Amino acid sequence: MTIRGWLVILLLILVGVGGTFAWLRFESEAPQIAGPESVVLGGQGGNVALELSDAGAGLRSVQVVLLHAAGELDLLSESYPGSTTQGAQAGKIPVSLEIAIEPDALPRAVTEAFLRVRVRDWSLRDSLRGNLAELKVPISIDRRPPRVAITTGLTYVRRGGSGVVRYELDEETARDGVQVGETFFPGYEMNGSRVAFYAIPTDTPDSPELRVIAEDTAGNVARARWPVVVKERVLPVANVTLPPSFLDTTVPDLAASVGIDASDPTAAFAQINTELRAANERTIREALAESAPERLWQGAFSQLANSKVTSRFAERRTYFVGGQPVSKATHFGYDLASTRAAPIGAAARGRVAFADELGIYGNCVLLDHGLGLASLYGHLSRLDVQAGDSVEAGQSLGLSGATGLAGGDHLHFAVLIGEAYVDPIEWWDEKWVRENIEARLPTPAP
Ligand SMILES: [Zn+2]
Repeated sequence: MTIRGWLVILLLILVGVGGTFAWLRFESEAPQIAGPESVVLGGQGGNVALELSDAGAGLRSVQVVLLHAAGELDLLSESYPGSTTQGAQAGKIPVSLEIAIEPDALPRAVTEAFLRVRVRDWSLRDSLRGNLAELKVPISIDRRPPRVAITTGLTYVRRGGSGVVRYELDEETARDGVQVGETFFPGYEMNGSRVAFYAIPTDTPDSPELRVIAEDTAGNVARARWPVVVKERVLPVANVTLPPSFLDTTVPDLAASVGIDASDPTAAFAQINTELRAANERTIREALAESAPERLWQGAFSQLANSKVTSRFAERRTYFVGGQPVSKATHFGYDLASTRAAPIGAAARGRVAFADELGIYGNCVLLDHGLGLASLYGHLSRLDVQAGDSVEAGQSLGLSGATGLAGGDHLHFAVLIGEAYVDPIEWWDEKWVRENIEARLPTPAP
């Protein structure tokens, strides 16, 4: 072949390479922008999540601007490394962005805006500037917290005791209820009003703050107070000496059933009294997490008939073996002793949330009474109900017994509001329930 022939071939190769390069570098596929369809922001602002990608030459730049009637606000301007000859250095890795929007940076009158996102790639199109993609996300700004009008007056509530507050709201909420220290008690709709049952948990610090909290869907939070007097009280203290029969039989039996080593019964007791107790309390909270949104009960709770109180609410116990303290726990219920295998009736109307073996509580029934109120029946020898059953006040749940961590046949009875145990003595008291609960609930419109 002549030199001229070689040159022609070389030229053809160069044209081919150049053509391929140009075809690749002139790709017309625009970048992809994924983001929300619209966003509602509260006065405290929030983040908008965006995801950018480009399957062709790769991402080159992104520009995010907030457009509103009074002007615009630059939120982000970023370039990604690369070159017009080689495309993006980082290849085609998608980019995740969190764009923070602070309504305080905008004039107060602005309630509607657009988030405009512009992304370019490393293609040579558009006079070498790259393919352009644009996304516009409508943003609504709601700076106003819900209005809370509390209609409940002066309230006295005891440490370990229960209360209810009634209030009205002027908009939909994502969350409302009562905050007592660290504990939140959700509110419920009742006869066109809102009510929240709450407790003063026994371990809440002195003089806890009580607030009705209402958070709207944009995240604006209102806090409102009403006159509440928290009556402090001295909680009972007890020293409990564990008898040999308890350490020799009850503890090893319970330890074996839950896989705790009982070669040292005292150590096994301490483990049961802390770890197993904590696990059982978590199961109870899970079983009661979804309370019925309507009131299932009426009036006062009934106490086990002809029973003798052998332990009271919130008794702080220290357990002793051979004169030595071995473990501590707070007793959050009442122990009621009657005859052996006494029939145990529901303290009030409700729905069975749990009826099964439950560690220290033995065979245990949890009743949900609605609006966050629940009752617990422990150590039963027989269960007559199952989860999901509806029960009337007084209906048999089973027979008393000594299952779980119990020294003898008795009923362990407890009342809960939300996450907190409360003193059942108030709920057994017809006058207290009438004056502190029934009189404060909204009545149906005539
Ligand atoms: Zn008990």
